[in-house]
Amino acid sequence: MATNATDHHVSFSEQVNRMFDKAATFLDHPAGLIAQIKNCNSVYRMEFPLKRDDGSIDVITAYRAEHSHHKQPTKGGIRYAGNVNEDEVVALASLMTYKCAIVDVPFGGAKGGIKINRGDYSETEIERITRRYTFELQKKNFIGPGIDVPAPDYGTRPSDMAVILDTYTSLTLTENPIDALACVTGKPVGQGGVRGRNEATGRGVYYGIREAVSFSDDMERLGLSTGLDDKTVVVQGLGNVGYHAAKYLQEGGATLVGLAEYEGAIHSENGLDLDAVVAHRKETGSILNFPGATNIEFSAQALELECDILVPAALESQIRKDNASQIKAKIVGEAANGPVTADADAILNEKGVLIIPDIFLNAGGVTVSYFEWLRNLSHVRHGRMNRRFEENSARRILEAIETLSGTQFNQETLGHVITKVALGASEEDLVNSGLEDTMVAAYHEVRELTKKHNTDQRTAAFISALDKVASSYSQMGIFP
Ligand code: NAD
Repeated sequence: MATNATDHHVSFSEQVNRMFDKAATFLDHPAGLIAQIKNCNSVYRMEFPLKRDDGSIDVITAYRAEHSHHKQPTKGGIRYAGNVNEDEVVALASLMTYKCAIVDVPFGGAKGGIKINRGDYSETEIERITRRYTFELQKKNFIGPGIDVPAPDYGTRPSDMAVILDTYTSLTLTENPIDALACVTGKPVGQGGVRGRNEATGRGVYYGIREAVSFSDDMERLGLSTGLDDKTVVVQGLGNVGYHAAKYLQEGGATLVGLAEYEGAIHSENGLDLDAVVAHRKETGSILNFPGATNIEFSAQALELECDILVPAALESQIRKDNASQIKAKIVGEAANGPVTADADAILNEKGVLIIPDIFLNAGGVTVSYFEWLRNLSHVRHGRMNRRFEENSARRILEAIETLSGTQFNQETLGHVITKVALGASEEDLVNSGLEDTMVAAYHEVRELTKKHNTDQRTAAFISALDKVASSYSQMGIFP
């Protein structure tokens, strides 16, 4: 289906709502309930002054949207980008509600955004903006461990989360300081962060794609074999999510044949060594001119490269009505939020592309944020109470086997077995295993719904989310 028309005029929240509405037609919930689930509960838009390093004043525009209070706290990242606007923040907050429901994380959805290009400000100015934003949120009751809990997103880092924590803590010293650590997630580990959070979204993307390619009937339909080993991958965006997704996919056996950043893209059929590309970019300031690779000056053309799996991991609306028919990938793994517009979604589905939807695939971040929140509220590192106990139990089992079998194990073999079998789980092991279990279970659930309703995975994922949020409302006795 060739088309030159674009779908730029359709807002991001309208794109999400179209996908939501499609799923709603498969269910028979009352129209009022569907509207309540779809609509955004509250939006706080703020403007505040920033005194710049040179003494001049900028007026900063920022938002926080809490899409659904059917569970509390609400949860969602904070984005720093020049094109942040109310519609985008609301759309991203709604995706958070659906995402949390799909992976059974007991939060409502939220999102924040500050309309700044990070590169235009010094780090001290960024800190002042972050502090003032936190102050504004606190003033209007839009932040707190049981109210609304931010996290990193596009353009924000763990160090920004540490600034949010520091500001929140100093503002609430007399209220509930004991749980204050849980007011924000994605913090550095030394500031109450959990091990594994920084890489969690990309790792979750890997688990989701690995699961998708393990089903022989699904792969046969796409003309592919199972497993990652012979798969070629193109990744757009080498930030937190894209870098980690690319890293784990490469470690899992896939070949990275294309990498795209905002300044351009590179291509090599023989495969690109991710860390060498990142080192080259650090040294030269650009992904372009990487030895052995071909330059693609217009970065978006990388989306149209020949490959098995395309992973858009930058921003929304990258695959639209005007370029969807040129996509050659058989699988699109949506690591970013909203990278495929509703019109493009229909075109790709018609082409038989398997789209693994954002509301499932990038849920690893909020899943591990949930583990961080639990760690902060329980005031103990995951695994601290049982790690040594597990190790000792496994040793006792090995000793019992020795006694029962009447054979004395060779000390060297025993030492080897102990380090393999009797190792107690560290916090990172527990976090990664909880993340893997969550992503695998959710993929199976979404795939089952896809089959049951004879639809695509995005619609199935929305059906899963919609049903779960609806059931929360009916348990509250608000709706039948
Ligand atoms: P990031 O700021 O760490 O990285 C984004 C990268 O994309 C940057 O390197 C940027 O230069 C690049 N980029 C921007 N425009 C581009 C373009 N047109 N072409 C190619 N590259 C481009 O952001 P992130 O945290 O990795 O977030 C990326 C996406 O993933 C966003 O949609 C975000 O909402 C989503 N997401 C993030 C998380 C998280 O935990 N950080 C969780 C879920 C979803």
